[in-house]
Amino acid sequence: MKLHEYQAKEFFKRFGIPVPEGKVTRSGDEALAAARELKGPPWVVKAQVHAGGRGKGGGVKVAGSIEDVKEAASAILGTPLVTKQTGPDGRKVHQVLVEEGVQIDREFYLAVVIDRAKAMPVVIFSQAGGMEIEEVAVRTPELVLRQFVDPVAGWMSYQARTLAYGLDPLPDSDTLKDIMAVMGKLYRAFVSLDCSLAEINPLVITEQGKVIAVDAKINIDDNALPRQKELRAFDDPKEKDPLDVKAEQYNLNYIRLSGNIGAMVNGAGLAMATMDVIKLAGAEPANFLDVGGGASEEMVTRGLEIILEDENVKAILINIFGGILRCDVLARGVLAAAEKTAIRVPLIVRLEGTNVEEGRKILQESKLKFMVAKDMAEAAAMVTEQVKKSA
Ligand code: GDP
Ligand code: MN
Repeated sequence: MKLHEYQAKEFFKRFGIPVPEGKVTRSGDEALAAARELKGPPWVVKAQVHAGGRGKGGGVKVAGSIEDVKEAASAILGTPLVTKQTGPDGRKVHQVLVEEGVQIDREFYLAVVIDRAKAMPVVIFSQAGGMEIEEVAVRTPELVLRQFVDPVAGWMSYQARTLAYGLDPLPDSDTLKDIMAVMGKLYRAFVSLDCSLAEINPLVITEQGKVIAVDAKINIDDNALPRQKELRAFDDPKEKDPLDVKAEQYNLNYIRLSGNIGAMVNGAGLAMATMDVIKLAGAEPANFLDVGGGASEEMVTRGLEIILEDENVKAILINIFGGILRCDVLARGVLAAAEKTAIRVPLIVRLEGTNVEEGRKILQESKLKFMVAKDMAEAAAMVTEQVKKSA
């Protein structure tokens, strides 16, 4: 789960990390009112979307007057923001953060993530801040410094010194202390909030010599949400694909893809294999959908509804190997979906496993139009043929 910058900055404040004063707003007039209460000029107006690279995409604007704040906010709120991370259609902006502008002297990168290979948190620090760390890592890897953290011992002050004394030129000792303090605080936030990422890019030294987090990014490990109850309220469904939101609601593992064959499968391995045979038959899957081993009739119904709501879908392949999910349960789920939403595209069904006879019978005795495939290869060939016919 991702937090917005303004939400992440609220948490930074709680953990003692300095951030600019600011207010989140939803209109040009609200932005103007916010600017009146904040110190400026300059003010900074920042699009709040779950995507990075906003600066380059025009989602971060420095305003020299109150009127400019209103204009910048109205412009950002009115047009989809396209950045390297949003895709070509961009992202609609529902909120902008208005902040007191900061005079930047130097920009650093600071982040905590989990290094999966080492199974440890790692603190990453670079004096090449403000730009994408991936690019820095490719072009000047010597500027990306790392300290792995023993999760039992925690963050050690010698590690902060190792990173901070890597700076060239070296800031004065008070500034160095402030930078090292932010490292410790960010690590504490990372652990306390069960983050998968806590990032400050840029962490700046201002012309006045203050250390301050100009940007903030926090991603929470979804597996920790049951114990991070407060954080769940920060979830923003507007930032997500509506089909993803629905899938999440019903505990379905769904990923939308760019093809036109909707596939409903039980088990992640079978789902992957089904995508492979679809590709092998010369077509492209529209989704990955694993209804799960223990799917209920309702989950099957919802899964099929999600597939049908995707306008790109031109044919559907249901590939079920009945185990814990019995074929009769699957069949009833499919019929329930068909009752609510007309199945407007060809449907190919391949069933095997527990209660397969009963499942087939339920489908055959219904009014549902569908084709039966005897195995996976035939199923993929049939569904591909249907898609080609409709094209
Ligand atoms: P991102 O592009 O989505 O990562 O958004 P950031 O919050 O990092 O903003 C992009 C860039 O805008 C930063 O790297 C800064 O260089 C600049 N910026 C952001 N806030 C301020 C500010 O208060 N003053 C100045 N001078 N520049 C800012
Ligand atoms: Mn940034």
